[in-house]
Amino acid sequence: MSLPLSTRALEFAQLLVRMNTVSANSNLELIGFARDHLAGLGIRSRLTYNADKTKANLFATLGAGKPAGIILSGHTDTVPWDGQQWSVDPLSAIVQDWPDADHDGEHVLPEPRLYGRGSADMKSFIALALANAEHFVESQSPFAVHFAFSYDEEVGCFGVRELIADMKEQDIKPLACIIGEPTLMVPAIAHKGVYRYRCCVRGKEAHSSLTPRSVNAIEMAARLVNKVRDMADNFEREEARYDGFDVPYSTASVGQFHGGIADNVVPRDAEFRYEFRNLPTADARMMQKEVLLYANRTESGMRKIAPEAGFSFETICEIPSFLSSANEPITRLAQRLAGESGTTLVAFGTEAGLFKGAGIPTVVCGPGSIEQAHQPDEFVTLDQLARCERFLRGLAAERDFR
Ligand SMILES: [Zn+2]
Repeated sequence: MSLPLSTRALEFAQLLVRMNTVSANSNLELIGFARDHLAGLGIRSRLTYNADKTKANLFATLGAGKPAGIILSGHTDTVPWDGQQWSVDPLSAIVQDWPDADHDGEHVLPEPRLYGRGSADMKSFIALALANAEHFVESQSPFAVHFAFSYDEEVGCFGVRELIADMKEQDIKPLACIIGEPTLMVPAIAHKGVYRYRCCVRGKEAHSSLTPRSVNAIEMAARLVNKVRDMADNFEREEARYDGFDVPYSTASVGQFHGGIADNVVPRDAEFRYEFRNLPTADARMMQKEVLLYANRTESGMRKIAPEAGFSFETICEIPSFLSSANEPITRLAQRLAGESGTTLVAFGTEAGLFKGAGIPTVVCGPGSIEQAHQPDEFVTLDQLARCERFLRGLAAERDFR
């Protein structure tokens, strides 16, 4: 390891990884830990809850009395690990060298890694922020630092919307936001949006020998599925390229399809789910409108046979794309603190588009790699954690940002 990492930072990262905060679970244990730690430093946290009070966001201001400053933002939930083959316990937060002692390959310097679900995506960032909280409290910088820890990011960025609304209500106007999603500590300035929908198709059931008296829900669903596919082909053919993304144009795909009960029954019901991943320069809501329009036209034919037939749509999530620039002061600050001259684009959705949409200049920069996120044996190297800690201490010492 090339850089020192404080004992407490590692301890906190392990502690948070050991709390099971899969999105389906409560995150209150983690939020309670953060709140108590901050309370010990004399900092009051504001919690905003989900409807049934099983999950909360935490917002705290470090540097009371100073003007609003820079938000350090992270989500507390993780994806599950059901069905994945792990060689370590996902909740163990074990630190191991890689390659391990009995690895007999080439001579490689062993690299210590912290293993566990959420180690890269993205509990370590939250842990490091908390472990270094007193540096922000004691900081001589002219602006405050805010912690914004959200719930339910992995299932659609739901929690942070409440947090941002509450911040507005409190009339807090931060200068900028840093989201610590795993980018290997390279500031990321753009990502695509993720817009996901469910379509339920109601047809009219009949014995399969009597098809003219029926409306086949699967066949009608298939027309829409085909429409989504045509749109995807169209993006590939026609859309202006945005270089830097793995796929430099918007994509669309159907992820699930269900329908039918028997070979000799014309199905009454079918359901499918699809998504758009739009370039920051493309409008996902217009894409969805195009599907709705097509559904409308298809529906009129269905209703001639069965007035009750038709499509209904449900929004699963709408995570806006994110587009900033290398010239944005928060990007430059992140570059300076990370010791990086470049920027990157990321393939995954984050809360960045929501913060930016609220008028807060935002950059995504955090420890670990997205290649390990959501994967079995997720890990973050201690070197990445040390870089992140140096970044955070640099932020605490920052005087010039405005
Ligand atoms: Zn994440």
